[in-house]
Amino acid sequence: MSSTLTSTFRKQTRGSVDLVVKNAKLLLESGIATGGIGVINGTIVVIAGDDHLPEASTVIDAEGKILMPGLIDAHAHIHDPAMLEHETFTTGSKAAVAGGVTTFVDMPLTNQVDTTKAVDEKIAQGEEMSVADFTFYAGMMNSENHVAIPALVDKGVAAFKAFNCEPYHASNGVIVKCLSAVSEFGGLLTVHSEDQGILDEFGREMEDEWDAPISHSLARPNIAEQLAIRQNIDIAEQTGGHLHIAHVTTREGLQEVEKGRLRGVMVTTEVCPHHLVFYRDDMNRLGAKSKMNPPLRSSEDRAALWSGLLRGAIDTVVSDHAPCPIEMKEAGSEDIREAWSGVDGIQMILRVLLSEGINKSRLTYSKLLRICSRNPARIFGLYPKKGVLSLGADADFVIIDQHKEEKITVDMMESKCGWTLYEGMTLKGVPVMTFIRGAEAFNGANVTIKPGHGKFQAMGSGNKPIGD
Ligand SMILES: [Zn+2]
Repeated sequence: MSSTLTSTFRKQTRGSVDLVVKNAKLLLESGIATGGIGVINGTIVVIAGDDHLPEASTVIDAEGKILMPGLIDAHAHIHDPAMLEHETFTTGSKAAVAGGVTTFVDMPLTNQVDTTKAVDEKIAQGEEMSVADFTFYAGMMNSENHVAIPALVDKGVAAFKAFNCEPYHASNGVIVKCLSAVSEFGGLLTVHSEDQGILDEFGREMEDEWDAPISHSLARPNIAEQLAIRQNIDIAEQTGGHLHIAHVTTREGLQEVEKGRLRGVMVTTEVCPHHLVFYRDDMNRLGAKSKMNPPLRSSEDRAALWSGLLRGAIDTVVSDHAPCPIEMKEAGSEDIREAWSGVDGIQMILRVLLSEGINKSRLTYSKLLRICSRNPARIFGLYPKKGVLSLGADADFVIIDQHKEEKITVDMMESKCGWTLYEGMTLKGVPVMTFIRGAEAFNGANVTIKPGHGKFQAMGSGNKPIGD
């Protein structure tokens, strides 16, 4: 399935090569090739067959394993100054690198990031605390702060988050204003798409049923997602702004995205690992731990998400990492409404895609490269510095062993929360080494890099979706 690199790609450089990784199967945009890479000062300067690799102070033998660009997790709630008991730049980024993620796009939870001052503060916190590279969303968008979009795009924060539902319900007027602004100034608007009016009515019907965890899912029907996505796409069509649908979960919602694309609307979307692994009935077994928004859906929806990934209808896989102290889940044991909505995930994206995707023939390696790395880099304006193995790109990469089995335990998780939705599952396919800008970040057992290595990555404003 792979060919040996016969031509050597070499960047004109001065100085000696710091790092060479040889004997790898390189996941390139053009396909899989056998060979290795050479790195100087954190940048890839050579891509060649093993016989043509230069001398280097550090040489790593990948033993024939796959070497792919580091993952870009484009939706992760890592650091909210008001919620540091959930996760921090340090703990969340350690979980990232232990999952092969080398860059993450943080998203606000409760603390607004909607001014240039808030952006500067967040960059400073991240560069002090994060082990991985990062960028972040501004939001939550509302009728006051949408006027800040041009100034924020100038600062390199060109992704904006809004909700069609609580807890940050924005009117369609706000969605129009934001999509018009990104159409003019660049960037994209990501919308959590569930119609609040439908959630209100279906929630009322569940009275006296809230002791059953599954009620959380039943109170948020598929049509709430479908209608919200349809409206958002109509607005994107009118304004020309780039709409990104956060965490699509339903067949119907995905169909709306595809219909929008067919008529030329600039719309991209993402899916979460938990929606690819679990389904609604699992809530009876997992209880409040499995509460998140949008909720777990039917097994038919889950199957539709896998096929959407394979045919390119879904652009990327994101964690929507939003863990909490376990007490905040236990608070929902009598009434599911009282539990925190959100789960861990940043350490699990690659493991899930290898185990449930590659090893079950639901995904190809070429698609894995796209959905994990290349597509999010392009959508969020980080390409080609990130998201691809190419000359001049940052040497962010992960070596994977797709045959190795691993039982998921709480002990292996780097997240602060101390529990995982995946506990006890045996998954096949693991990241065995992660590097960020040429520095080893994870050695298969431990995170080996210090806080402060992570650097803010400004988003280019000319983000463009790709649709493959
Ligand atoms: Zn989220």
